[in-house]
Amino acid sequence: MATKRKKQFKTESKRLLELMINSIYTHKEIFLREIISNASDAIDKLCYLALTEDKVGMNRSDFEIKITVDKQARTITVSDNGIGMTPEELEKNLGVIANSGSLKFKNETDEEKRAEEDINIIGQFGVGFYSAFMVSDKVEVVSKAYGHDQAAVWSSSGIDGYTVTPCEKETVGTDIIMHIKPDTEDENYSEFLETYRLRQLIKKYSDYIRYPIKMEIEKSRAVETEETDKDGNKKTKYETYTEEETINSMIPIWQRSKSEVSDEECAKFYKDTYYDTEDPVRIIRISAEGLVSYKAILFIPKKAPYNYYTKDYEAGLQLYASGVLIMERCTDLLPECFRFVRGIVDSQDLSLNISREMLQHDRQLKVIARNLEKRVKSELKKLMTEDPELYGEFFKNFGLQLKYGILGDYGMKRELLQDLLIFYSSNDKKAIPLSEYVSNMPEDQKYIYFACGDSISRLDNLPQAEPVREKGYSILYLTDEPDEFVVNMLGTFEEKPFKSVNADDLGIEDQESRDGLKKQEKEHKKLLDFVKDSLGGSVAAVKLSNKLKSHPVCLTTQGAISLEMEKYFNSLPGDANEKLKAERVLELNADHRTFDALKNAWETDKDKASKYAKLLYFQSLLIAGMEIPDPAEYAKLVNDLIV
Ligand code: ADP
Repeated sequence: MATKRKKQFKTESKRLLELMINSIYTHKEIFLREIISNASDAIDKLCYLALTEDKVGMNRSDFEIKITVDKQARTITVSDNGIGMTPEELEKNLGVIANSGSLKFKNETDEEKRAEEDINIIGQFGVGFYSAFMVSDKVEVVSKAYGHDQAAVWSSSGIDGYTVTPCEKETVGTDIIMHIKPDTEDENYSEFLETYRLRQLIKKYSDYIRYPIKMEIEKSRAVETEETDKDGNKKTKYETYTEEETINSMIPIWQRSKSEVSDEECAKFYKDTYYDTEDPVRIIRISAEGLVSYKAILFIPKKAPYNYYTKDYEAGLQLYASGVLIMERCTDLLPECFRFVRGIVDSQDLSLNISREMLQHDRQLKVIARNLEKRVKSELKKLMTEDPELYGEFFKNFGLQLKYGILGDYGMKRELLQDLLIFYSSNDKKAIPLSEYVSNMPEDQKYIYFACGDSISRLDNLPQAEPVREKGYSILYLTDEPDEFVVNMLGTFEEKPFKSVNADDLGIEDQESRDGLKKQEKEHKKLLDFVKDSLGGSVAAVKLSNKLKSHPVCLTTQGAISLEMEKYFNSLPGDANEKLKAERVLELNADHRTFDALKNAWETDKDKASKYAKLLYFQSLLIAGMEIPDPAEYAKLVNDLIV
């Protein structure tokens, strides 16, 4: 029964399709790469079945991709003998494009901006099948799925919908028939009907496809004629004929030695395969022999994909057993903390028939995973020393991942990851590794000092850090959410303990000043109690501080929860009342003029003194980057004291 009724594309797919059809994207030629790559994926699937189940009745060498051109009809057909699609799959796979729902179109009208948007979207998503519409005004997909009798043809001339109709097709597989658009003033689509151009594109983008890509190539040869020349020799003439040729070299990039494939070629392969616009910061090529033999090519990206920190990001390396893809995303090959690494592992020691469940326990796989982990770490360390600036860029994108890696698994990966951390150091005015901080420490410095806050400029003015700064010690500024937890998890680095500049005892003060402070506190006890009462339970304690020099107050905490942690817990969803709160401590500088004013007021006008206390507390909140609970009250207090 023919279903000729036109079906509509899903809304999001429609927008993507529209983008393809009207694209001013200059690299329209990538459509061929996308269609060939789909053909290769489909063959991978059937090839895997053929090698693991006898009933398919095909050998690896039977698989191929064929490209035929009909200049008169203006069509290019890409045929594969892969797994094929059932009529339902044609509908499901081509009527709605995965991921397209998350596309954020801005509806740019400015041509330049639109072109930029095109590139971003095409780059981010690897638009796949729909890219055929960049060069075609009609696309037909004739397919017969393995194990099914009924073939069908999916057909669409673009935005107004598609049809799926039963048809005849003898062999299993898929033909993608692209009807090439007529030329326009700006675009020469006819070039795609030239075999030399297609050959060029196959070499450029699809050379590493592991199945032969065959094409009829027009050639010419000399043939003798019956005519003779004046010396009586038979004249020759040239005739053209066609011959099928395999265009691609078929040797996958990871099977080639370093001398055969340049880093530039690998970077290009990376960008084409993983849809990145930037070169990777590191390309790792491994050819291992021994306990387990395998080849691998790994890439460490510079930029995080737009969905990296969401559940949509799919981690994992492609796993091949002797050149046959057995798993598209194998997550057992790398620890979670290195999930940004992309690449391929191919081992002749893995069994084709291994199931996903078995794979996790596979001894060979574990050996490979251990090696890859070591290699990724050592390459990152190398990058850190050889090119700190580039490492900094990498870290901006993936530092958070490394930090969460330290916190996860009960700190199991701490040893692996601590050397890869960089933090902003106040003296160096840039992010440096912990090892560099420690080696720069003066001999008398016992601790690695850190301060937590939202921004470097705020931390640069943190009052309680003054004594550390005065000693000339550098302070690490922790501005990422997990930083403080990371430092707590580490505890020490190269045997040097971490210490917050908020700590009661900074390890700097001498005994004399400590005794002096105690004495002062005794002396002012009543005033301090008054201040605490005036704040009505907002703080757990009010103390005098010997950390403050030019500032009158600062806010610190006692107990295990810091202000930064409190901010973090508050940002999590959940009931506000049940959230962990830091125990706040208001520290006052008894040597500051403000303290004298507070004391005077306390002696003469308790109401005024209470206002001062509140103002000082609000001030400390502001400096710590916290919100004032009642800004209107704050404004009123200031006004009362002005007039
Ligand atoms: P992607 O390949 O990224 O999944 P595409 O838009 O390129 O997205 O293709 C959508 C789906 O259509 C594929 O996932 C695949 O299931 C199916 N498909 C496309 N081309 C073929 C083909 N030649 N043979 C079998 N299935 C195909």
